[in-house]
Amino acid sequence: MVKLTFYGGVGEIGGNKILLEDDKGKLFLDFGYPYSKYRVFYEEYLKPRPGAGLLDLLVMGLLPQLEGIYRTDLETENLWQQFRRAEHYRKLEDIDGILLTHAHLDHSGHICFLREDISVYATATTAFIAKAVQDSGTSAFDQQVCYFTPRVEECLKGWKQGAYVASSSGDRQRRFCVADKLELSEEAGNFWEKATRRKKLASQLLGDISKCSFNLRCFPVDHSIPGACSWGVETSSGWVIYSGDLRLHGRHGKLTESMIKEAAQLHPRALILEGTNVDKAANVSEQEVYENAFKAINDASGLVIADFPPRDVNRLLTFLQVARDTKRKLTILPRDAYLLKTMRLLESEIPDIAQEDAIVIYQETTASKTPALWLRNIYQDYSSKIVLAKDVRSNQGDFILCFSFWDLNELPSIQPRTGSLYVFSSSEPHNEEQEMDFWRLHHWLEHFQLRAYGLPLYRNGIWEIPEEEKGLHASGHACGPDLLRIAREIQPEVLIPVHSEKPEFYVDNLSDSGINVILPTEYGTVEI
Ligand SMILES: [Zn+2]
Repeated sequence: MVKLTFYGGVGEIGGNKILLEDDKGKLFLDFGYPYSKYRVFYEEYLKPRPGAGLLDLLVMGLLPQLEGIYRTDLETENLWQQFRRAEHYRKLEDIDGILLTHAHLDHSGHICFLREDISVYATATTAFIAKAVQDSGTSAFDQQVCYFTPRVEECLKGWKQGAYVASSSGDRQRRFCVADKLELSEEAGNFWEKATRRKKLASQLLGDISKCSFNLRCFPVDHSIPGACSWGVETSSGWVIYSGDLRLHGRHGKLTESMIKEAAQLHPRALILEGTNVDKAANVSEQEVYENAFKAINDASGLVIADFPPRDVNRLLTFLQVARDTKRKLTILPRDAYLLKTMRLLESEIPDIAQEDAIVIYQETTASKTPALWLRNIYQDYSSKIVLAKDVRSNQGDFILCFSFWDLNELPSIQPRTGSLYVFSSSEPHNEEQEMDFWRLHHWLEHFQLRAYGLPLYRNGIWEIPEEEKGLHASGHACGPDLLRIAREIQPEVLIPVHSEKPEFYVDNLSDSGINVILPTEYGTVEI
């Protein structure tokens, strides 16, 4: 008998935390950051208190009340006493590991709270992206996926109570066990083991997945971040397949096709399948994005700004091709350069920035006396590739700037000419906070008199991209008909939808398929 308990990813898009247990052992399928649960209580200036360790997260229902799986440096005194009578409290020990599907935080973010001796199983690319994102990001207390800063309780002189503060002893890396590419080049090994932020790093060598108590299969799939995979776990009830996030219409859709074939051959007992875009009837392909972006940018005369999702390397490569074909320079930010450089350590088809004529790197205004090592290295390694705001300002027609809303702060230095083009290649706002940012984005464009293309407008109570400007964004998720095809071709005995706001879609559309669709409930257990 296998038990699947759903601690996240039910009725919400993201935050997947699924516990799989049978007599062989226990695994979590992803351990994601539950954005929608955070939004219920928190916002930018009201966040769980890092100084309170795990307390806020457990009390506010952001983390499952599972004693024994979390970092002990975050356990305040007598922490668990208050939860032992709670409905969903459980003591949980001997976790074999986390099967991580990809490096989006809604799947990986809360790994930061887990005990460091719990292995994270992933592809090498996912492990490397997790590190690159953390190296070059803000590394907030609740998003330290690859390594973390242990906390110690300290009481300031004159204070009556202590709090949990980041220790000065350095960062500690988690154990990542990769399903592929164990042999790393020296350069790749260096990247993994070296600290590039301000703290030193106690690193752990990459392990492999063979030590897991379960027989595992890792199937690479296509998604809007490189390195994504689905997992297969051989349990006492048969194979359980967990899709993670996937699509068939992207640049590497063939990977997902292979996963479908190989998973079907295992005659799985259960398929846990994502359903983000169940209500979409069709997809825009990455090739269409290229064609539409090319048309818009080829006709533009002044500066072009391209706004696309962070870490979507495929989209970056699409705009790189547009840049080559329109004789412009794709102007990327240092963090994108760092990600490309990191990915090239594992995948030789990723372009080498130093050799690629159509890429330059934008040097942001840095107001720090001690910028992090990764940033200094990027500026040093590619010093001939650096462009400044004044270079862009004086030759606006030569560039495609890869900026998102969060980078618009540079515009006062760049002074884009009236009529410059803002190409929006991302998705519509999904919540009120994002809507506020869309209003602000519109205000920025009006202020600098930029022309928007593909940008959602607010009309009749909804945000929508004008009909004639659609086709600039290929979603990371398969549409409804593709998801049904995946389910029918894998033909599991049981299908459990997750990562969806409309899981009934599968009940309604698979009634003739012989597949038993079971809708999970939050904290509920499905026995298979
Ligand atoms: Zn994702």
